Amino acid sequence: MAERLLIVGNGMAPGRMLEHLLDKAPGRYDITIFNAEPRVNYDRIMLSPVLSGEKSYEQIVIHGDGWYIKNGITLHKGTKVTGIDRAAKTISTDNGLVESYDKLVIATGSVPFIIPVPGHTLPGVLSYRDLDDVDAMILASKARGNAVVIGGGLLGLEAAAGLAEQGMDVTVVHLMPTLMERQLDASAGYLLKKEIERRGIKVVTGANTKAILGTSRVEGVELEDGTVLPASLVVMAVGIRPNGWLAKESGLTVNRGIVVDDQMRTSDPDIFSLGECVEHRGATYGLVAPLYEMAGVLARTLIDEPAAYNGSVTATKLKVTGISLFSAGDFAEAKDREEIVLRDAARGVYKRLVLKEGKIIGTVLYGDVEDGAWFFQLLREGADIAEMRQTLIFGQGYAGGAPLDPMAAVAALPDEAEICGCNGVCKSKITGAITANGLTSLEEVRAVTKASASCGSCTGLVEKLIGLTLGDTYAPKVSKAACGCTDLGHDDIRRLIIAKELKSIPAVMQELEWKTSCGCSKCRPALNYYLLATWPGDYTDDNQSRFINERVHANIQKDGTYSVVPRMWGGMTSAKELRAIADVADKFNIPSVKVTGGQRIDLLGVKKEDLPGVWADLNAAGMVSGHAYAKGLRTVKTCVGTEWCRFGTQDSTGLGIKLEKFTWGSWTPHKVKLGVSGCPRNCAEATVKDIGIICVDSGYEFHIAGAAGLEVKQTVLLCKIETEEEVLEYTGALMQLYREQAHYLDRIHKWMHRVGFDTVKQQIVEDHERRRALFARFVHAQSFAQVDPWAERVAGAFDYEFKPLADLRFAQAAE
Ligand SMILES: Cc1cc2nc3c(=O)[nH]c(=O)nc-3n(C[C@H](O)[C@H](O)[C@H](O)COP(=O)(O)OP(=O)(O)OC[C@H]3O[C@@H](n4cnc5c(N)ncnc54)[C@H](O)[C@@H]3O)c2cc1C
Ligand code: SF4
Repeated sequence: MAERLLIVGNGMAPGRMLEHLLDKAPGRYDITIFNAEPRVNYDRIMLSPVLSGEKSYEQIVIHGDGWYIKNGITLHKGTKVTGIDRAAKTISTDNGLVESYDKLVIATGSVPFIIPVPGHTLPGVLSYRDLDDVDAMILASKARGNAVVIGGGLLGLEAAAGLAEQGMDVTVVHLMPTLMERQLDASAGYLLKKEIERRGIKVVTGANTKAILGTSRVEGVELEDGTVLPASLVVMAVGIRPNGWLAKESGLTVNRGIVVDDQMRTSDPDIFSLGECVEHRGATYGLVAPLYEMAGVLARTLIDEPAAYNGSVTATKLKVTGISLFSAGDFAEAKDREEIVLRDAARGVYKRLVLKEGKIIGTVLYGDVEDGAWFFQLLREGADIAEMRQTLIFGQGYAGGAPLDPMAAVAALPDEAEICGCNGVCKSKITGAITANGLTSLEEVRAVTKASASCGSCTGLVEKLIGLTLGDTYAPKVSKAACGCTDLGHDDIRRLIIAKELKSIPAVMQELEWKTSCGCSKCRPALNYYLLATWPGDYTDDNQSRFINERVHANIQKDGTYSVVPRMWGGMTSAKELRAIADVADKFNIPSVKVTGGQRIDLLGVKKEDLPGVWADLNAAGMVSGHAYAKGLRTVKTCVGTEWCRFGTQDSTGLGIKLEKFTWGSWTPHKVKLGVSGCPRNCAEATVKDIGIICVDSGYEFHIAGAAGLEVKQTVLLCKIETEEEVLEYTGALMQLYREQAHYLDRIHKWMHRVGFDTVKQQIVEDHERRRALFARFVHAQSFAQVDPWAERVAGAFDYEFKPLADLRFAQAAE
């Protein structure tokens, strides 16, 4: 008599296992299946096309009723196994059945994870796991209305796309800054978000769900920052957990999942397990490919053939029509890895291969995934790619071929190919103009044809065309690249950020075709600065792109401790402030208290863990961060002026305080220091500051471009002005011009040297309109900037551990 094989769960994994088993040994077992779902085995992967209306349930059935009858299998639909008696070798079900087994297979899959926020049990809150969920979503979508999908992973995005297809107004809420962050890096995540938004789906990243709102059914979702999103349907797609409770209750070993060996045997030799419910060598799986490998191994094990499952490397695709993405393996950054990156901004293509010791260990492809399977095969085989490294990223078609000639691609373009999208200029118009008019430079081509004269993103292409037409006689002007990650110089990057309205680092890197996936310690802080200076209030700061001092709001010193400098407006302080500083020094055993060259007090030797406590106490005494660590406004040094001094001509202290209260918090390309002296005796040393004011009888001398650091520079007199209001206006305008034109890490004197004193003078002194506009832009930017980072940190911001981009282990001057 055949042995009795009982199977708990009728999902995709046991379905495939049975196909193998019936194929190899049709009569070996008397098979009975119990399935909690009231239906036959269907392709769960295809639930998204059912939701979007592209397929029907009937089209995704794998084994229909006839298949079970034909193969003599008893299927109990809608029957849940509630207990296993391992001693008696029987199972019991929720409808009172008790059946005995010789061999038992547990294939209970996963359970969706539900975040236990208030309101999560309200009607209208669904998970996304089976056909019932899909039916409920389709029913809810009939009334149109708003849907919120919590979770921007694979399932969440598929649910969102399906619901949008059904006519709902959909918002995806995702905790992390990047969609599908486990499968995609920031660059591919950026392209995906852009495409999802292009389909009318809203995406809110970096958002934590606080509560689901509603009385008798769901009405909305409240986020941690107080935003309320209206919703008549909420889909939670935040992850899955292996479903191991039945195994656990029957005494089998269960960690994250049901623990199995290489033959899919549990801790009981007669009980096997496979699918999403298992844990094999510490790993659990949520994709079908590994489960199918397990299915083959279990079928052979059940007929006593030797077989072993060794674990799987998985690859991911998103099943939303028209979105092509592929990711596999490990693509995290690490020191021992190299990467090859190809970006095609116009086609929205991003390809990245991560290499270690000459082998592919990870790949992310977006927009063009044709070679995904080939890269994945090379990855799984651990193939040595040294021979084809140069052409590898172009795919299998180029494997082993010669490196591509960039000129050949331009030469191959047809005459009517559009080169400059902004001005609609085609290839033949450019080459024709070069020949007809004897043009020899980019500037001339721009002037005659308008090509590359607007946003400039086609400049490289136009230059190649000039080179192609003129041959070796053409020597293009090369601007120095900002770093090895790009061919563009700082000015081009700044110009294109504005022209293309780029508002995040991943957007810049993709659209400007960065040659690396995430930039380097040179370009990341620069891009972060350019973005926040260009789009104040509209750009979220990327904390990880800042150096250590700016990330922790204090100066790291050579022994690993920190120093903090509270702001003392215009160099003034009070007994109350001094007492608070003294108390902080005592309370936190701060070993050194020093007066800086910028008239502030530096508390040196603070332990990292004490920083929030120090900030909290200083904040409580009314003091804020002095930004002594920042590429931003540091100090305004003053003398005592008319209030106390016999020589003073103006209230230099009062003006210094006004200037500091006006300019503090502003981020700049490098540090900025100001000085105000009450008379030409210049006790505040204003003539070695970035901006120096010398008060004179007739008003104020406005000096710029001094420095007293690595390079010592005396200021130059920009102009004389008459009122304090004008000093504020000129200061704001000058700082804004510097913010808008300087390269990152240029002090004011370096920037002025580059653009020319006369140009600065023309723009600030002679062009009144321009000065006023610059001033207005500075004031606008300041409305977002004057936030005390210490107070933010005390309130809990940035309390996660972040990865240092560059850990500068040298002391930075405290002033
Ligand atoms: C919407 C969606 C889209 C997906 N897309 C992809 C994709 O594109 N690519 C990919 O590789 N994977 C995808 N997956 C994952 C894939 O479907 C799963 O990995 C696979 O279905 C898991 O198979 P399984 O047999 O382990 O479990 P399941 O298919 O989940 O089957 C488990 C079955 O066991 C039943 N059961 C549980 N407990 C009991 C019990 N006590 N008694 C009786 N029956 C019980 C359940 O009702 C269920 O029917 C997707 C999943 C979903 C939900
Ligand atoms: S700069 Fe002039 S006003 Fe100021 S303290 Fe010195 S002497 Fe007095």
